[in-house]
Amino acid sequence: MVICGGGVASLETLLALRAHLKVGVEVHVVAPNRRFVYQPLAVAAPFDLAETHLLDLAEIVSDRGAQLHVDTLAGVDAENRRVRLAGDAELPYDVLVVAVGAQRRDWLDGALHFGGAASVGAFRALLERLENGSDRLVSFVNPAGATWSLPLYELALLTASRVADRGIIGVGLTLVTPEADPLEVFGPAASRMLHDVLADRGIALRVNTLAERIHDGKLYLQPPGVLEADQVVTLARLAGPAVPGLPCDADGFISVDRHSRVEGLEGVYAAGDGTSFSVKQGGIAAQQADAAAEDIAAQFGAPVTPAPCTPTLRGMLLTGIAPTYLRAGIAATGGESFVMAANPLWWPPSKIAARYLAPYLAGHNALTRDQALEDRSPLARNAARLGEAHEQARELALVFAERDASERHFRSALEWLEVIERLDGVLPPGYLHKRTEWQDGERRSRS
Ligand SMILES: Cc1cc2nc3c(=O)[nH]c(=O)nc-3n(C[C@H](O)[C@H](O)[C@H](O)COP(=O)(O)OP(=O)(O)OC[C@H]3O[C@@H](n4cnc5c(N)ncnc54)[C@H](O)[C@@H]3O)c2cc1C
Repeated sequence: MVICGGGVASLETLLALRAHLKVGVEVHVVAPNRRFVYQPLAVAAPFDLAETHLLDLAEIVSDRGAQLHVDTLAGVDAENRRVRLAGDAELPYDVLVVAVGAQRRDWLDGALHFGGAASVGAFRALLERLENGSDRLVSFVNPAGATWSLPLYELALLTASRVADRGIIGVGLTLVTPEADPLEVFGPAASRMLHDVLADRGIALRVNTLAERIHDGKLYLQPPGVLEADQVVTLARLAGPAVPGLPCDADGFISVDRHSRVEGLEGVYAAGDGTSFSVKQGGIAAQQADAAAEDIAAQFGAPVTPAPCTPTLRGMLLTGIAPTYLRAGIAATGGESFVMAANPLWWPPSKIAARYLAPYLAGHNALTRDQALEDRSPLARNAARLGEAHEQARELALVFAERDASERHFRSALEWLEVIERLDGVLPPGYLHKRTEWQDGERRSRS
């Protein structure tokens, strides 16, 4: 079996496959990157609330008994069941999973296109300019056709919190979106909450609006309008990978069915942002990967009944205070259920809700398939009470962490920080720095 890609869908496929089939399949992973980058936490990194995790891909791959080829998929010869790699080698396959993601394109000249870990430095520089007063007006622009705009809302909210925390005056933040309501994919209650939170933080909101161009410190909008802007922040537009030899739509996205089988090609699957599924998001990429792995494992004789992918969108929104958990059945599948809660709606509570990858990254290997991603909707009914309990748990964990650190019990202090990170997804302001100090303390006490 050959899996192409070194991101979310690729690793979820590998982990899911090994959960169903421990032995009997030789797996090769082809990826150009030596590190797996956990992009969602990049939004918190400029604010020193989290670090973008970089994990050694070879380690994860070999941990699951597969072999990594640092190379790039150049094309598929489906007739002869071979993949061609950019380094000129060829690999034969019985089963192929293409999980090469989408291509990210900058689309608005003059804007800061936030694309994850690589953009942290540029965003940090923007925060410095806000602090020293050289920039005052920032517009956060949601691109037309974007299906996953949560990171843009997070950047706007975290910026507003930073401005308030540091007492910076004269800053104006605006969020411009073609949506009729903010984060409308998560339903009316989430939009209402966003309306309130944005207003509370002093972020002006322009809905049903597209950004057209930036010229001379001005952002030109459609319907016609102009906003003064020292800096415009946006997200990349996505294009399909257009892999030679694979069927794709007009934008290059690979056409798949609900078992992630590539249409018309036997033994070929695709999962993740590179496919034609309408929403490009890590949790969805993982669900597609799970569907592919089940279908493949069943063919190899595993006792599993392959379930088609019935996508559920799960989002953990970092607001600058406690995170909010959002869940939506996706309309195209007939589901229109929306849940919003202050407590985790899935476990472990991770930014990318993936049945196998999330527990693996959180070190929860002992979770069973059904415990991971378990939907905890009944808990949501008591959201207010649980929100309070969550707050108290965080405060207690901070008290214990500080007490342990002051008594030089650094290992225990670090474990309390881990508890907070699990609760909130990020650390409270200032604690990234403290964690480094406590890690140094722990190392010194051991040597
Ligand atoms: C700032 C930011 C915040 C985000 N926040 C969230 C969030 O909160 N929750 C969430 O669920 N999702 C979030 N996402 C989206 C999520 O990261 C993506 O949807 C997810 O990574 C898609 O997984 P993938 O495997 O399809 O693609 P990727 O994770 O992009 O992986 C693609 C892999 O394929 C490799 N590759 C590319 N071309 C080739 C080739 N020709 N041959 C072999 N390998 C190739 C790449 O190097 C990469 O390793 C966020 C994204 C960003 C940028």
